[in-house]
Amino acid sequence: MTTALVFDGMTVPVERAGRSRRAHLTVERDGSLRLRAAHDVQTEELTAFLKSKREWIYTKLAEKERLRADPVAKQLVDGEGFLYLGRSHQLRIVENDQAAVRLERGRLILPSRLRATGYDLIIDWYQSRGIKWLRPQVSEWATRLRVDPSRLDVADLGHKWGSATSVGWVRIHWATLQLRPGLVDYVLAHELAHLHEPHHGPSFWARLGRVMPDYEDRRAQLALVGPTLWFGAQTTSPETPAHPRSGCQKKLVNEGPERARRTGG
Ligand SMILES: [Zn+2]
Repeated sequence: MTTALVFDGMTVPVERAGRSRRAHLTVERDGSLRLRAAHDVQTEELTAFLKSKREWIYTKLAEKERLRADPVAKQLVDGEGFLYLGRSHQLRIVENDQAAVRLERGRLILPSRLRATGYDLIIDWYQSRGIKWLRPQVSEWATRLRVDPSRLDVADLGHKWGSATSVGWVRIHWATLQLRPGLVDYVLAHELAHLHEPHHGPSFWARLGRVMPDYEDRRAQLALVGPTLWFGAQTTSPETPAHPRSGCQKKLVNEGPERARRTGG
């Protein structure tokens, strides 16, 4: 007999077979979940079991997604869209004597003479603009969570949205700034909660839930939207060599194969 459970918006078929009291959970090749349990295991027990496996589930789903999809790549051409806090901004390549990428009247302006390092400059823009937006957000969430972060940085964190160390150093991936503010807040609150609890145990989630009651929704949305974001991959085109000699090292880091394996630190 097969029934089904709904977990974080996903339908999970439950195959009732065997006598073992231990439920058995698998993530299928297509990313669907499947649960097997004996007839006498209660639905509430199965739901609790899925909840206890949540980190594992999302890690597995992200791995499947990583294997399935090519990374999102961008081209340095007029009209290419770049997300910032959930809004899309078109790229404009213009002749001016600015030394950096700027946001002007909703457009992302890249000086044409700096096109060879354009990808790096756009990432620099996410970092410098992002940290100004993040500072007041971080202090607000830090107050709610009663923590005192010692340092905040925006950087390339490979496969993580953010990280937090025992000495209070909080780091956020620049790509996180593409998310809408409610999801950036989830990443911030998550990392700040780690200043109390380094691991993803029940007390960690309980603490996060007290300041962000809908964190499960946000986490599910983050898992969905994450693989659609840009992490620095480039589209090769005749005018824009994929690996300009300057800054090649950094690009390789940005294109890391671990793109979608993000669990939120
Ligand atoms: Zn975490």
